[in-house]
Amino acid sequence: MDACNEEDIKMYFYENRLKTFEGWPFDEGCSCTPENMAKAGFIHTPSENSPDIAMCFFCLKELEGWEPEDDPEKEHKSHAPACNFITLKKTVTELTVEEFFKLQKERHKFIIKKSCNEALTKLEEAAKLRRGDIIKTAMGEE
Ligand SMILES: [Zn+2]
Repeated sequence: MDACNEEDIKMYFYENRLKTFEGWPFDEGCSCTPENMAKAGFIHTPSENSPDIAMCFFCLKELEGWEPEDDPEKEHKSHAPACNFITLKKTVTELTVEEFFKLQKERHKFIIKKSCNEALTKLEEAAKLRRGDIIKTAMGEE
C-alpha cells in the first residue's frame, strides 16, 4: 500500500474532516458540533436513513444516535479505546515523519481488519444461502 497517497492521508487534516459535516444535524449550542466532531477525528458518513452517522477516519469506528450533549472526544475514547488517533498526544502536523509512518501503519491495520470482517460476513451469508439451497434440494423441493 502506498503510504504517501494524497487521498489516503487527506483525512488526517482537521479542515478536510470538517468539510464532510455539511448537513450535520447538530450545530450551535451543543457539544457535538461539526468542529468538535472533526477535532475528535470523525468524518460525516450519512446514509439515507441515518443522517447522523459519523466514522473515525482512523479506526473506522462508526457511531450514530448522537445526542446534543455528547462529547465527541469522550464518545470516541469510550467506544474505540484502541484508536491511536484519539489517544495521540500531538497534532498530526507536530509528528515526525517516522511517527507519522508508524501511525499510518496502525491505521492500515484497522482498514485491513474492517475489510476482512466485511468479506467474512459476505462469505458467511453466501454460505448460509447455499446451505439452504442444498437442504431444499435434498428434501426434493425447488
Ligand atoms: Zn478512532
